Amino acid sequence: MSPIRLIIIGILFYIVYRLLVGGRKKEPDDQQKGKAFKEMPPNDVLVEDPVCKKLVPRQQAVQHHNGEQTFYFCSEKCCQKFISQEGEGE
Ligand SMILES: [Zn+2]
Repeated sequence: MSPIRLIIIGILFYIVYRLLVGGRKKEPDDQQKGKAFKEMPPNDVLVEDPVCKKLVPRQQAVQHHNGEQTFYFCSEKCCQKFISQEGEGE
């Protein structure tokens, strides 16, 4: 068998492989997903208010440090409520 035939067979296998892989993957969807991730700042995460169970962006939330844990609240009112409940519990 001549080396040229081996190369042609190799190219044919490569084309078939590319067709199989390329047919399953939809590139426009992947690009849209990537765009959506870029639009949302990585440090702007939604956190749950333990008092009213509302989801608030962490950067806008009222923070309360309790020794080892940090709690996030939608407002100063919820934070104060949580602190007063915390005091009653112990
Ligand atoms: Zn709240």
